[in-house]
Amino acid sequence: TVGAITLDQKGSMAAGTSTSGLFMKKAGRIGDSPLSGSGFYVDSEIGGAAATGLGEDIMKGCLSYEIVRLMGDGKTPQEACDQAVYPFIEKLKKRYGKAGEFSLVAMNHKGEWGVATNVEFTFSVGNENEQPQILMANPG
Ligand code: ASP
Repeated sequence: TVGAITLDQKGSMAAGTSTSGLFMKKAGRIGDSPLSGSGFYVDSEIGGAAATGLGEDIMKGCLSYEIVRLMGDGKTPQEACDQAVYPFIEKLKKRYGKAGEFSLVAMNHKGEWGVATNVEFTFSVGNENEQPQILMANPG
């Protein structure tokens, strides 16, 4: 899955995903990517988030919505990613004995960004003050 969040010069934000779904998925399976709140979510007055990875686990936490909700409560995108994703991974491990691999990227309406992942994952981030950069992130 490729997920993106954008902010234009007028302050309008968008989030989107493009996916082939999981390798060897069952016919008819719908992952998180087309589901607002799970694979992506955006509110131009707050910010947006997008996810990639094991959709079944991403959906259990409505993780994109949760990150935006936390940004709406005043968290930075990085704080929101950290607070939505890492405790949720622990919850999945406690409840199911494991957590799938997934990664999320977020940006707020000021263009600040954050990421969270439980695998080594590469993100592309940037804003009007920061040249686009490739960010190699690690869990935690
Ligand atoms: N999130 C996608 C899904 O579960 C898969 C992916 O990100 O590769 O369908």
